Amino acid sequence: MVTELIAATAIGATGAFGAYWYLKFKCVLPMETGQRASQKAFGDFTSFVRETLERAYAPEQTEHYGDLTNYYLIKLHKVFPDSSMLVFEKGKGEWKLTNYLKSFKMEPKLLTSYKWSALDRSSTEGELLRFDEVRVGDYQAVAELFSVFDIKSALMCPFQPAGGAAERMIVFGAANPAQFDAVQPYLRFIASQLSSISKVSDQVFALRKETDNLKNEVNAVVKELDVAGSRLIQRARERKALYEVVTKVTGPGEDAQNGCAAILNIVAKMVEADVVASLLFDEGKNELVVSPGSYGITDADRMLYSIPVSNQASSSVRTFLTRKPFITADAQNDPDVLARYAKLWDIHSLMIVPICLRDRIIGVLRVGSRRADFFTPDQLEFLTIIADELAIIIEMVTLYENISKKAQELAQLNKLKDEFLSTVSHELKTPLTTIKGFVSVILSGEVGPLNEQQLNFLAVVDQSVNRLTHLISNLLDLSRLNGKVEMEFQKADLKELVRSAVSTMQLKAREKKVSLFNELDKDLPAVQADTRWIGQVIDNLLINAIKYAGSGARVNVSGTDKGEAIVICVEDNGPGIPMEEQKMVFDKFYRGRASINQVPGTGLGLAISKSVVEKHGGKIWVESRPGKGAKFCFALPVSKEK
Ligand code: ADP
Repeated sequence: MVTELIAATAIGATGAFGAYWYLKFKCVLPMETGQRASQKAFGDFTSFVRETLERAYAPEQTEHYGDLTNYYLIKLHKVFPDSSMLVFEKGKGEWKLTNYLKSFKMEPKLLTSYKWSALDRSSTEGELLRFDEVRVGDYQAVAELFSVFDIKSALMCPFQPAGGAAERMIVFGAANPAQFDAVQPYLRFIASQLSSISKVSDQVFALRKETDNLKNEVNAVVKELDVAGSRLIQRARERKALYEVVTKVTGPGEDAQNGCAAILNIVAKMVEADVVASLLFDEGKNELVVSPGSYGITDADRMLYSIPVSNQASSSVRTFLTRKPFITADAQNDPDVLARYAKLWDIHSLMIVPICLRDRIIGVLRVGSRRADFFTPDQLEFLTIIADELAIIIEMVTLYENISKKAQELAQLNKLKDEFLSTVSHELKTPLTTIKGFVSVILSGEVGPLNEQQLNFLAVVDQSVNRLTHLISNLLDLSRLNGKVEMEFQKADLKELVRSAVSTMQLKAREKKVSLFNELDKDLPAVQADTRWIGQVIDNLLINAIKYAGSGARVNVSGTDKGEAIVICVEDNGPGIPMEEQKMVFDKFYRGRASINQVPGTGLGLAISKSVVEKHGGKIWVESRPGKGAKFCFALPVSKEK
């Protein structure tokens, strides 16, 4: 694009000048040279113009401009063989000979700069200067040059770029000035050609220079981007590695302790370290202690490594106290490091960063290499990021350890309690049976008559023994359900089970002035169930409804076929259960606030029911709105063989 523009400009400019000089030439030709001489001279000039125009191109580099000048001079020399031609270029206050034409050996010392006031004058005025007889006084500075070229008379033509003093000048020298008229149009043509081309070429050159600068700038930016890019990639790799560790650690069922070791391993690989350890602050001992899972340290060395926080000669302690990262190229010879530990682990390069959990410092991360002067500030920065992640994992490990320790303690206590209850229940059952037997015998009067007071007291004893027996039997049930009791599954007809339970409970319901209704669907499919245990669940729900609904209440038992499961519900219109208690009523020993002192109970009925239903692969739940009654339902999967 630029080349095309330049070519068009150059050709346009030279065309216009050609035409101009053609006219001018015609006018200035001396009339007395005659028609033929005039035609020949005109012919020479036009062929000169035509031939040189073919070379009129914009040079791509500055030296091409010199080539082109030489080309013009050679061409001109062909037309005026006896002449000398010199081209000067204006420098800083001086003129420099850039091109010349004459077949002789040029002395290099002549190619130098000349102070030449005549050229200055001509270049400013822009006119041709004609010296028919060169006097040495005029050209003192170039006298030697002119004598070498045998210049006795000279015609000087400035290259006149638009609106400025000439920067180049052609000197046409001859032994005598006879040719000066004829050479004038040639010189003007060459001057105009070269000045317009030089202008364009200067622009091209400037453009090229600008493009080169731009290229260099772009290259520099690309290089910078490359460096930044590879740093980013490195960061992304580090983050990914971290992410993998963190997700591994926080994933379900993963051991946080292993996660800590994994992260230290990753650090070791990322920075090519030989030793990586996290030193955590032990508040009790006021020491920094190496945590398990460290990389490159034997357990024995780990035990040897603990530093009192009072020991400020230790670089780890200082990092811990100041929270400032530390790096050294040779730990074993650095006075700021305890050489003892550097030697113990045989490390030279060392980095230490603080491990902070939010605004609390919990320890330091120590990374060492056997090679001296090995770690870079970039790696120190990476370590700082890792330390943040590590802090979270360490907290998780600590929490996890505390929780699992507590869970273990609780499980152990629970086991002891279950064993104790089971033993006590068994131990109580036999004497209670004996007591109940003898109380019944005494109450029946078989062993002698009793007065009214004795009868009343014994009735109270009998009732208490019944409650105690009920509690013991519940405890034994629960202990069996917690143990390895096997359900004896068989095809069971829930209709029949409900019917039998409802009829057994009718007497109790009537005593409490409660109306009990069986509203089961007629055709309920069979389920696989242990009838003794499921019967006990239905009993528990019915007993509760009768107990808690209160006098005058109504209790309905319903059953629905839900396809995959049969749902049995016992619904009453009693006081219901407060929202906040609903999720707790199935817990062992839980008793409602309203019932605890009003209604006798053990708090075990619903816990037993839940355990039984779940052992059948079913579910049990409660729906209740306080004041609007309670509805207890359980669902059992339908037997596969219908
Ligand atoms: P218990 O009846 O021996 O207290 P349960 O495990 O059977 O033990 O019941 C736990 C608690 O659930 C009861 O103490 C009572 O507060 C509440 N509850 C159970 N059934 C009902 C009901 N039908 N209406 C109101 N509260 C009930």
